Amino acid sequence: MRPPLSSLTRRDFLNGVALSVGGAFLSPRDVFGEPSFYPPTLTGMRGSPDGSFEVAHALRDGLFWTTAGPPADTGERYDLVVVGAGISGLAAAWYFRKAAGPSARILVLDNHDDFGGHARRNEFQIGGRTLIGYGGTFAIDSPAPYSATASALLAELGVDVSRWGRMVERGLYAGLGMSSAVFFDRETFGVDRLVRAPAAIIEQGAAGSGTGQADPLAVFLADAPLSESARRDVARLVKAPADYLPGLDDGQKKARLTRTSYADFLMKMAGSDSGVLPFFQARPHSLYGLGIDAVSALDAWGIGLPGFAGMRLEPTAGPGMGLDARPGRRSPFLHFPDGNATIARLLVRRLIPHAVPGRTADDVVLSRVDYARLDERGPVRLRLNSTAVRARHTSQSTEVEVDYVRSGRLEQVRARSCVLACWSGVIPYLCPELSRTQGEALAYATKVPVVQTTVVLRRWTSFHALRVSQAHCPGSFHTSVGLDLPVRVGRYQPPRRPEEPIIVQMARTPCRPGLPAREQHRAGRMELVTTTFDTFEQNVRDQLTRMLGAGGFDAARDIRALTVNRWPHGYAYQYNSLWDPFWISGGPLPCVAARQPFGHIAIANADAAAYAYTDAAIDQAYRAVGEVLARA
Ligand SMILES: Cc1cc2nc3c(=O)[nH]c(=O)nc-3n(C[C@H](O)[C@H](O)[C@H](O)COP(=O)(O)OP(=O)(O)OC[C@H]3O[C@@H](n4cnc5c(N)ncnc54)[C@H](O)[C@@H]3O)c2cc1C
Repeated sequence: MRPPLSSLTRRDFLNGVALSVGGAFLSPRDVFGEPSFYPPTLTGMRGSPDGSFEVAHALRDGLFWTTAGPPADTGERYDLVVVGAGISGLAAAWYFRKAAGPSARILVLDNHDDFGGHARRNEFQIGGRTLIGYGGTFAIDSPAPYSATASALLAELGVDVSRWGRMVERGLYAGLGMSSAVFFDRETFGVDRLVRAPAAIIEQGAAGSGTGQADPLAVFLADAPLSESARRDVARLVKAPADYLPGLDDGQKKARLTRTSYADFLMKMAGSDSGVLPFFQARPHSLYGLGIDAVSALDAWGIGLPGFAGMRLEPTAGPGMGLDARPGRRSPFLHFPDGNATIARLLVRRLIPHAVPGRTADDVVLSRVDYARLDERGPVRLRLNSTAVRARHTSQSTEVEVDYVRSGRLEQVRARSCVLACWSGVIPYLCPELSRTQGEALAYATKVPVVQTTVVLRRWTSFHALRVSQAHCPGSFHTSVGLDLPVRVGRYQPPRRPEEPIIVQMARTPCRPGLPAREQHRAGRMELVTTTFDTFEQNVRDQLTRMLGAGGFDAARDIRALTVNRWPHGYAYQYNSLWDPFWISGGPLPCVAARQPFGHIAIANADAAAYAYTDAAIDQAYRAVGEVLARA
């Protein structure tokens, strides 16, 4: 049994870094700041931390201009100002520089203290070694092939996606006898139990095969704390599902499934016991930010959830199918230790070479960005901690004035062109010139809240003792927990022995089952901004203790650092056949109306494609730069 939380030493952290016992691993420098500011090593509440959003919220609430005076003119003049230093904004700066030449003057603004947007790096020094994790974007991995544009950008940055097989130590955990598991929590399933599970039970894209899983599945289900009828139905859905829409052709079946939630499919079409619902509830979380109540059965089929093998669906997309679920070729896969933060660092190196030492896509992984040099005088400047509050044309319409707040001061720069690579929902508040129709189209792009929590353990012997490397936790605070992927790049080597420190990645998707999708995201956002770091910390310690206590895990001893990457404005909203009728009928898409350029201002960001992937962020940057160049 797990030790009660009260027996753990609480308040062991200062900003996410363990203070007790860990003198051997962490010096006070790590805790109280380093000689030069280096945000990747900051722990505690990260992602969008306090201080990054207050100005934008005041703008949204109509409070900002009631107290702001006129902006101070910096006197700075640019060829291009980009708002947003995510992959899209950085790519826009890169495309513009390529077209306009190396002397083009470009300013990139971002409200965070780090660049990359969701492509965020977490870095830790522990036991004399560097551990690198991802705080947001996990990988080059898109459900559709990368466009020629996005592929060319990766190639120009020196990223060779064909190397992935040689970078990952694929058999490391399996070679140590470890596998996937499901953690059943007491509150949802009546008892805390970690049960080793066939990968097909927890990984997207595998469970629907329905064959060859008999023994591991039976062993798993025998241990799973589910009712007898729920076990029987899970087994039936995986191994021997029937055709639940007999008499309909492929198109008719897909038309029904696209309007039916997976939860309703399980209950009403497949006649399952209600006990299967909590077991499957969180399966779409990582892709949709929603549970099975708000994801269509057709999408569930597309992402490999069980129950469809007997329906003999043609492997072609149906109407209204989600972008994540469509069958067909997908992009290559490549994961750097910091996820796609490596792409952001490579872009910044091209734009501001003196700030990012090194030359290759390998050496950037361990190179230390000099943040103090990002905004030095030079053709390209990157200004962090700067929230744009207005972008409008000058009275002659020859230039764009961009006002932003930095350190509580309202400043102004001017540019010939402006690319808004920030979130679509922000743009109506920034641009007084926008038409109401375009403003409404932009506002349709809500964001999907997600949390990526990075936990440093001083060793992973508890995982090893329980023979588990990753777990799906359908009812828990974090619904996925996994040892970091073992990847080697350049001089960076992953931990290989259970006695070594390691990063554990945990993901949480705050949503409110039962509400329409967009309302679930709104409720999740509210929850995120009001959940304190202490609450996250307590939940991490509690969950890991309950999962791993039997393997000897001791939160006070084993957790050495904790970074909560909170993204209230996470994934771009992708259209969903249950809630967006135009997505089924093929009607006009809000994102197309939303991204229209006006004057010298163009709109980038993944939101502009309603597609939450890095390739979309790059493609939209390319289009937006083409638009401003055409008007220059
Ligand atoms: C947790 C997580 C995991 C993901 N995993 C993957 C993955 O594995 N593969 C993949 O392809 N995609 C993934 N994505 C999606 C991918 O990260 C995004 O599609 C892509 O990085 C978006 O880039 P962007 O530049 O369009 O937007 P963002 O990264 O959101 O960048 C926009 C920037 O603009 C800033 N901004 C907003 N308003 C203002 C303002 N007023 N002033 C100044 N700055 C402002 C924002 O703070 C932000 O920094 C993931 C996303 C998240 C959140």
